[in-house]
Amino acid sequence: MFTGIKRSFTQLLIATTIVASCNNQKAPEAPAADTATQAASMEADTTSFPVSMVNNKKDPTCGMPVTAGISDTAHYKDKVIGFCSTECKDEFKKAPDANIAAAEIQ
Ligand SMILES: [Zn+2]
Repeated sequence: MFTGIKRSFTQLLIATTIVASCNNQKAPEAPAADTATQAASMEADTTSFPVSMVNNKKDPTCGMPVTAGISDTAHYKDKVIGFCSTECKDEFKKAPDANIAAAEIQ
């Protein structure tokens, strides 16, 4: 009698383990899809500017190429300067004349 109960329990345990391992096999697909969706929505939400819109090649504050991404822009002597971040723009605005050379205006 007890053996019977124990066997059923073992079978249940095995069944549970199989279900669990099936879930584990499916798991990698779901997060991958979520990550792709997140990346797509992040791209859409991020305020960015096209490289063609700015006149500089590099963020004058940190030296990052504008092709890596422009989050903010500033106008300087009829030129549009792209920055990777608002922090870099604010830093540039403190001393634009001293930093403009690093922007590599084209
Ligand atoms: Zn920067």
